[in-house]
Amino acid sequence: MTIRSLLIANRGEIAVRIIKAAKALGIRTVQVHSAADADMLAVKLADEAIDIGPPAAKKSYLSIPAVINAAKRAGVDAIHPGYGFLSENGDFADAVEAAGMIFIGPKGDAIRLLGDKVAAREVAKKAGVPTVPGSDGRVDGIVAARKVAETTGFPIMIKAAAGGGGRGIRIANNMAELESQFPMASAEALAAFGDGGLYLEKVISRARHVEVQILGDGENVVHCYERECSLQRRRQKVWEEAQAFLLPARVREKLCASAVALAREVKYRGAGTVEYLYDDETQDFYFIEVNTRIQVEHPVTEMITGIDLVQEMIRVAGGARLSVTQNDIVPRGHAIECRINAEDATRDFMPAPGQIGRLSIPEGEGIRFDTMLYAGYSIPPFYDSLLGKLIVWAETRDACLDRLKGALQQLEIGGVPTTVPLHLALAGDDSVRRGAFHTRFLEAWLEAEFSRQLQSKSEVA
Ligand code: ADP
Ligand code: ADP
Ligand code: MG
Repeated sequence: MTIRSLLIANRGEIAVRIIKAAKALGIRTVQVHSAADADMLAVKLADEAIDIGPPAAKKSYLSIPAVINAAKRAGVDAIHPGYGFLSENGDFADAVEAAGMIFIGPKGDAIRLLGDKVAAREVAKKAGVPTVPGSDGRVDGIVAARKVAETTGFPIMIKAAAGGGGRGIRIANNMAELESQFPMASAEALAAFGDGGLYLEKVISRARHVEVQILGDGENVVHCYERECSLQRRRQKVWEEAQAFLLPARVREKLCASAVALAREVKYRGAGTVEYLYDDETQDFYFIEVNTRIQVEHPVTEMITGIDLVQEMIRVAGGARLSVTQNDIVPRGHAIECRINAEDATRDFMPAPGQIGRLSIPEGEGIRFDTMLYAGYSIPPFYDSLLGKLIVWAETRDACLDRLKGALQQLEIGGVPTTVPLHLALAGDDSVRRGAFHTRFLEAWLEAEFSRQLQSKSEVA
């Protein structure tokens, strides 16, 4: 069935991104919003807007009945879930289908299987993909946890099977810590995700986060190469690149092939990401999880491949075959994305919503700004602090970093503190230029380097 109209069950910059893709395909767009989001950019851009409830996400963007009712009322053919919210909820995908509409993403069963991080580890093993040494399946209590730790050693990670967004992860450095943290982790996971299930993974120290973009149409699966997302704070990505520039060609080939093998195992449909940790020294990679949705950092892949991932996921959801074969996908140049958040770096990156004053967006060759902003917009305090993403492309990584600096200098967002100064400092940092970083780099760098820079600035002032 060709999709002629679609409802966007999300907000912020990704809602705007989906509307753009839909418009390019000639599809009518219906944007849902909470009472706090009546003024958001996506509402202005969509053909129709529907208020689905109060500001609290539980009563609007996370309410399956509220979203389905709006979709029925608008008479749309399909629903795009974006990222976060209901995007990785298999029951939502089923509910959309049961209501006679298309869910733009994998089948509910595939979401449930891969969204459970323990079940996904099993799928990876079955497909011959190396996983992080750890527990076989869920660990049901402290006795079992001790046993696993005796074989893998310390430090060890306690991870929630249903975790996501950097939440639901703890580190134990010894048996005593494991014993005290395990019950707390379980209670926390139950409260946060409605599932107290835990598993254990050895900590891969000084690793890089490398992930492979995949696309499937239910029959064929291709990969769109990999991204490097090691610059993280609290296990959340801050800056992403495509490709992972220091990866040896032989490793890249194996890594991408493993992601395709895993996706084939479940006849994957839609856009997805297979995430890994990569050890530079041993050149080993280990599967960590699958995200069965479009990711925040998808634009860097679009910039180096020329593929519109959101359009592609809409097409295959409508029953079309992938528009590209593996041989058509030839990466070119280098791309970097900076997540621009309304946060106060001098106050431990506390979210700082407010009203946008002056807004000046950089333009030019190789520069893209995916955003929810317009001058005068008031950011509601109820949701994520992401304002937009600055994505820059150039022929080489060095040229890309230079262009990024220029673009960051041109980017002006008045009225709220943002993470632009952080990105400017990173773009000018020597270790970043050399690519000498891993998943714990940014937090240490913030302690040392950035706080020193902020301090010397305030002394000047
Ligand atoms: P990506 O995986 O696309 O790089 P993030 O990990 O930052 O991006 O997640 C995308 C968005 O979804 C963020 O706003 C994050 O907070 C949210 N998110 C992801 N998984 C969950 C989850 N299980 N529970 C709550 N929020 C989540
Ligand atoms: P989420 O679902 O929250 O995205 P992930 O399992 O993808 O959780 O892990 C998020 C981040 O936590 C990784 O990018 C990495 O920085 C860190 N991490 C996760 N597992 C390990 C591990 N076994 N060893 C070291 N770091 C890890
Ligand atoms: Mg992850």
